[in-house]
Amino acid sequence: MKLSELFKNDKLSLSFEVFPPKTDMAFDSVKSATEEIAKLRPSFMSVTYGAGGGTSRYTLEIAKNIKEHYSVPTLAHLTCVSSTKETVLEKIEAMKDAGIENVMALRGDLTPELEKSDRSKWAYRHAVDLIHDIKTSGADFCIGGACYPEIHPESTNQKEDIKYLKEKVDAGCSFLTTQMFFDNNLLYNFLYKIREAGITVPIIPGVMPITNGNQVERAIKLSGSFMPQRFKSLVDKFGTSPEAMKQAGIAYATDQIIDLFANGITNVHVYSMNKPDVAAKIQSNLSDILG
Ligand code: FAD
Repeated sequence: MKLSELFKNDKLSLSFEVFPPKTDMAFDSVKSATEEIAKLRPSFMSVTYGAGGGTSRYTLEIAKNIKEHYSVPTLAHLTCVSSTKETVLEKIEAMKDAGIENVMALRGDLTPELEKSDRSKWAYRHAVDLIHDIKTSGADFCIGGACYPEIHPESTNQKEDIKYLKEKVDAGCSFLTTQMFFDNNLLYNFLYKIREAGITVPIIPGVMPITNGNQVERAIKLSGSFMPQRFKSLVDKFGTSPEAMKQAGIAYATDQIIDLFANGITNVHVYSMNKPDVAAKIQSNLSDILG
């Protein structure tokens, strides 16, 4: 099922994100975690591509397994920045063969090696180049893109970031998923600005339940997200008590989702990070609110 069909709901729907294993040996345990999450019947599941150290070759295998055996629509991520045109076209063909219908088209993060290399030799400089290639490949995917309520860390200002975001949408993105954020007001402000800029596709806010104190620093560093005082206090208080932090982090994410829905947002993506217990708890916290 194309995700663009899903986003017409007026009740609250949750989707969950998983990532492929970092090693071959971890494949079975990751597969089983993704299956446990699929059993929760989310509106869809996204499978990252190499992010967080996961190996990209399992993205398709996991997405296909969830779709075929659990009938949960899947969104397979694909990055392009370190790829050749040939590799990307091969990946697109492999996605078609695997029956994938939804692709998240991303540039990918710049590694220190890439940062030092000659950009004029890159086959792909931005996600928009990948979106063009997917479109011209003849594949009939529903394409998603990434967006950043607090601007992308490489951008100098929001106006420019939104200008490039509009280019991605005009190139063929049917929806956008946001980077994590811990203050919903930043999202509301961003929505106002992008709508004003003429971006009308569905925006799926990404909520990250922070469930352990050590995760905070890494998550904030990667995303550049602002930490509201309420969130900081929670991490200060519970960051060194694993069970308490998990409970508090899930409660914070639940609260964010309730506020998003109260403000008219019906599709929320949860960065569930291969943790079925966290996904299940958020879902059960919202049992009387979910559609
Ligand atoms: P782009 O859209 O190319 O934007 C990157 C920067 O370039 C921005 O500053 C933008 O303003 C600027 N820019 C865009 N177009 C142009 C242009 N034409 N000219 C000049 N500047 C331009 N990473 C992974 O490795 N695997 C994943 O699975 C993954 N999943 C993600 C899912 C989501 C929802 C998000 C938010 C991020 C994800 N990432 C993933 C991280 C992502 O790869 C990084 O954030 C990356 O740095 C940017 O990717 P992008 O697709 O947003 O890039």
